[in-house]
Amino acid sequence: MKKLFTLSMLAVAALTGANAADFPIKDKPVTIVVPFTAGGPTDRVARDLAEALRKPLGANVVVENVAGAGGTIGANKVAKAPQDGHTLLLHHIGMATSPALYRKMPYNTMDDFEYLGLINEVPMTLIGRPTLPATNFKELQAWIAQNKGTVNLGNAGLGAASHLCGLLFQSALKVDMTTVPYKGTAPAMNDLMGGQIDLLCDQTTNTTSQIEGKTVKAFAVTSMKRLSTPALKNLPTLDESGLKGFEVTIWHGLYAPKGTPADVTAKINKALKVALKDPEFIKKQQGLGAVVVTDKRVEPAEHKKFVASEIAKWGPVIQAAGVYAD
Ligand code: ASP
Repeated sequence: MKKLFTLSMLAVAALTGANAADFPIKDKPVTIVVPFTAGGPTDRVARDLAEALRKPLGANVVVENVAGAGGTIGANKVAKAPQDGHTLLLHHIGMATSPALYRKMPYNTMDDFEYLGLINEVPMTLIGRPTLPATNFKELQAWIAQNKGTVNLGNAGLGAASHLCGLLFQSALKVDMTTVPYKGTAPAMNDLMGGQIDLLCDQTTNTTSQIEGKTVKAFAVTSMKRLSTPALKNLPTLDESGLKGFEVTIWHGLYAPKGTPADVTAKINKALKVALKDPEFIKKQQGLGAVVVTDKRVEPAEHKKFVASEIAKWGPVIQAAGVYAD
């Protein structure tokens, strides 16, 4: 059995022509696919990570945005990409929520990827357009109650983190809102600032500077504890604001197409571990309210186990909400 496995790995390496000795291929960049629009929170993490990865990987690392369908289009592109380590996916919790949201998934989350390690954890914030009359969560709740049926909430499509947070928020308040889907929360943020939509729940990696600059109204964070980031530390948690037990924490991970040779994935994982210890990367992430993961959590086996546990955790919640796409 062991021999068979080794032979099949050799066959994959022969087919793709990839092995650690010639990875990265000279002058060929490593592309990190982000399954959402440029300028958004997932993109922010990917661009900071790309910078930190360049040296340990010994390659130019570029970001490509392949947005749409809550992240499933970009993820599918990587699932079917050449298995040479030069096309990677950086995705968030949507890796674990989309299997419950899409009746027909174009890829299999557990089987179609090599898991390369988790990157960070990021809380979310509930924010509103600058012209909203409410100035705190209590007033927001009253405003929502008065405007039932007309409140709208942006998100990055079915399977996005903003979608999950919005679902939980509506269910906690027992209010239905009109959801406005975008291909990422960067364009949703623009519309929120312009007053075209009322509310958005998005990662702090996108909202921190807007909250600091007061171009949006911030109402609460989705973590159980208040955050220490200066721009966010005065924000109450949704839990303390009356939505008991409300917690959504987003995580990001790195993936390669299934069948990428083990020596290539080991090389990428090693570079990832170095990048996650880069003080500059850690500082940037901390400034945006994110916590970079360490040690065991960067191990591929732990990463895969964690995604499986997240699928088990969110599947029933999503099913109970009765939301799905064909
Ligand atoms: N924050 C987005 C989400 O809701 C994705 C993005 O634009 O990065 O999942």
